[in-house]
Amino acid sequence: MIEVIPIGGFSEIGRNCVIVKYKDEAVMLDLGLHMENYIRLTEDEDVPFKIPLSTLVREKAVPDLLSVKEDFKAVKAICVSHAHLDHVGAIPFYTSKIKVPVHGTDFTIEVLKALLKDKKQSLKSDLISHKENSKFKISKNLSVEFISVTHSTPQTVIIVVHTPEGCVVYANDFKLDNAPIMGSKPNYKAMQELKNVKGLILDSLYALDPRKTPSESIAREMMRDVLLGVSSNNQNIVVTTFSSHIVRLKTIVELAESLKRKPVFVGRSLSKYLDAAKNAGIINFEKRADFVRFGSKLEDYFKKVKNTEDKLFIVTGHQGEPKAVLSRLTKNNLFPFNYEDLVLFCCKIIPNEDNFRNRSVLESKLKSKKVRIFTDLHVSGHACREDHREFIKIINPEKVIPTHGEVPMLIAQKELCLELGYKEKDVHILKNFSRVYL
Ligand SMILES: [Zn+2]
Repeated sequence: MIEVIPIGGFSEIGRNCVIVKYKDEAVMLDLGLHMENYIRLTEDEDVPFKIPLSTLVREKAVPDLLSVKEDFKAVKAICVSHAHLDHVGAIPFYTSKIKVPVHGTDFTIEVLKALLKDKKQSLKSDLISHKENSKFKISKNLSVEFISVTHSTPQTVIIVVHTPEGCVVYANDFKLDNAPIMGSKPNYKAMQELKNVKGLILDSLYALDPRKTPSESIAREMMRDVLLGVSSNNQNIVVTTFSSHIVRLKTIVELAESLKRKPVFVGRSLSKYLDAAKNAGIINFEKRADFVRFGSKLEDYFKKVKNTEDKLFIVTGHQGEPKAVLSRLTKNNLFPFNYEDLVLFCCKIIPNEDNFRNRSVLESKLKSKKVRIFTDLHVSGHACREDHREFIKIINPEKVIPTHGEVPMLIAQKELCLELGYKEKDVHILKNFSRVYL
């Protein structure tokens, strides 16, 4: 019998973590941060100082592994699905407890190395990188398969845990992008070939959205439409987006080059993810762009640079984070904003109170400088309801376990499953620690 033990991310958004156990062998899938709770403690996702693990657990910023000691002992390996902090960001805080190898794709492992370095931590066990679409053994009875899929950060995989009694599929996070700008389409063939799928643990963030998530190529057209279609001669251009969204950064660099502007990346987080992309052999912008890696060097850089109008600045701070670069540029006249300069937000506001407040403060400061603001140049990296429908049919699991969502999203996922012919008892709406047997 296979056990699925939810640790984090069930009936909540963030700190994704689940254990799949067969007899006395188990694999842990993801070990992420709850970003909202974490940033509340630190005020910034990139703070280097160390917070005690007990505080992080108490404040629900990391999955509570201390409450599942027996199951944790059975864990033979940790497999991470992709590089987002809500999937890997708790690992640096658990280094003293992790004694098993951590497996991920090349980019994910490079990001993880950078996160560990930031926190001045190291793992006692191995960090093992794999190509997408590879399969490897982790213990006597368990093997793991990484199936490539599209998302908003490179080399994201669906993780399949194979046991002698069938397999469990972990699809958290993903979208079905059939026209990706970088990397390949989701590996539908490998998904279709899966046999005896006992359970599907399924991303439900947009289960309430009755549509198909548009391709990233649509986001590229939205950005192209603004950058190449709006007059920007002799104006400054500042663009902000997610630091881990490497393909979007590539689009922005290409559009800057079309405008004959030099791209300038400003901010520590952008440099960190771009270094990981370079080390993983995905893309290297070093010959094509300038980098201002540290906020403390900002003032020096802008003093040195004569013509900001022949550059295109790519900066951190799309959610209006007070310590990030874009907010800092609006303070003390650090950046020479002029009338009708362009500021592009290639993101959407991640809905929580802090973000809405921070963005409102930032946008009113920008408005006071009379710049032109373009918001929501973005498409999501998460599947919506009509993608879920396709995906469930392809995987054809016996049972579905919705995750990565609050209760209404999980219930929406369940309603879709019922519509597809599943019985009530085969769709499990779980809370953390409420295990299920497959
Ligand atoms: Zn993600």
